[in-house]
Amino acid sequence: MKLNDTSLLKQACLVAGNWVTALDEATMPVINPSTGKVIAHVPVLGKDETLSAIHAAEKAMVTWKKTLAKERTAVLRKWFDLIVENTDDLATILTAEQGKPFNEAKGEIAYAASFIEWFAEEAKRAYGEIVPSHKPNSRILVSKEPVGVVGAITPWNFPAAMITRKCGPAFAAGCAVVLKPAPDTPLTALALAELASRAGIPAGLFSVLTGDAKAIGGALTESKVVKKISFTGSTAVGKLLMEQSAATVKKMALELGGNAPFIVCDDADLDAAVEGVMIAKFRNAGQTCVCANRIYVQDRVYDAFTQKLVEKVKALKVADGFDPDAKIGPLINQAAVEKVQSHIDDALAKGATLAFGEPQPEGTNFFPPQVITDATDDMRIASEETFGPVAALFRFSDDDEVIRRANHTDSGLASYAYTQSLSRAFTFSERLEYGMVGINEGLISTEVAPFGGIKESGLGREGARQGLEDFMDTKYTLMGGL
Ligand code: ADP
Repeated sequence: MKLNDTSLLKQACLVAGNWVTALDEATMPVINPSTGKVIAHVPVLGKDETLSAIHAAEKAMVTWKKTLAKERTAVLRKWFDLIVENTDDLATILTAEQGKPFNEAKGEIAYAASFIEWFAEEAKRAYGEIVPSHKPNSRILVSKEPVGVVGAITPWNFPAAMITRKCGPAFAAGCAVVLKPAPDTPLTALALAELASRAGIPAGLFSVLTGDAKAIGGALTESKVVKKISFTGSTAVGKLLMEQSAATVKKMALELGGNAPFIVCDDADLDAAVEGVMIAKFRNAGQTCVCANRIYVQDRVYDAFTQKLVEKVKALKVADGFDPDAKIGPLINQAAVEKVQSHIDDALAKGATLAFGEPQPEGTNFFPPQVITDATDDMRIASEETFGPVAALFRFSDDDEVIRRANHTDSGLASYAYTQSLSRAFTFSERLEYGMVGINEGLISTEVAPFGGIKESGLGREGARQGLEDFMDTKYTLMGGL
């Protein structure tokens, strides 16, 4: 891995203000999913180090929460500048450990940085209010306070953005963060921590621990000092963390799995819809929680849409993320490859047709993109998140039917609909039971809008003004005797 600043490649963790290794020197390898080669080793830390990080976070917060918002803004702004300045190195680390094409990795770094910039600005706008009182000679003050120490646990599909989306608002609000990144992609997180320190995030305010997920997660959820858990990952682990956090009644922010419907109506601009699917389905090799999972195409345009989509998919080059022509990198690991293959096998066994797709080269994590037609609701691909580059096309005839089918899931994260009709657009926007709806848009993520799900896709919102509010408690003071 060639870096301009080699000190960004950390093989130690930032705990309570110090870069540390495990007491017994235990490490775990970080593997490049394209080559299978070990690129670094990171410490295996556990409960003791987590407790020390929590303790330091509590102490650091005492001062941090009292700093002027303007000062927190300045530190965050510096962190943003450093992330932008080091884009190439961060993207190199990201592609090496996660696999996504280098250009896409650079895009993620810009997206990650945008959360720090946004929340640097929002830090100044944590307004309270004065409410007309119910009693004479009194005032009602409503103010905002940081929730406290935050335990953050992040996934591997966005190794940079999922961290800044939590840390930006947390630091802006005056909180401290103890973060456990995904074991597959710890290096991006550690590099971001190094840049945070350089930007002036005080010692102890931000710890990043790699290692034993259960031990670290257990210590974070058991702690009375940790007041909020912010988690992005699988629904199963999210539910577990919620259960573990019940005893101390923590605030929960959960961004869990999706099963996004993507509806293409017969009056849609088909070329735009195909472009939308290319982004919503194949970005990050299909490994995002907002990826289109069920593509519903109306009867009249089904064949035309399929043909146009196959043409585009044929042009996607699958390769190592450092290949300048790569459009799709590897899946994260073999378990992911097996899951995607099992969804295809199940669909074909139940009567689907493979409209396009090369076989998966065994022994690698690369998965060539596939287009499946005649998909039906009894297939696993309809009810489970595939998390891979497989576009499954379902047929539908009318709007009521497709809305009912689209909503028939426990998930409620992202959804998409393409139509030229204003009335149909509003119908989909209002009746799709999802936290987010893209109308004639396949890419909806941005720091300025509230990202999050309903139903079993999660709790809370990240980004936007709501993203800051989620890291603050509301306090009400009745000022009497005036
Ligand atoms: P995925 O299937 O996408 O890897 P996971 O939910 O397993 O999703 O992982 C998301 C994050 O949750 C990772 O950082 C992982 O290490 C962490 N994690 C997994 N199991 C636990 C657990 N029992 N307690 C705390 N964190 C966990």
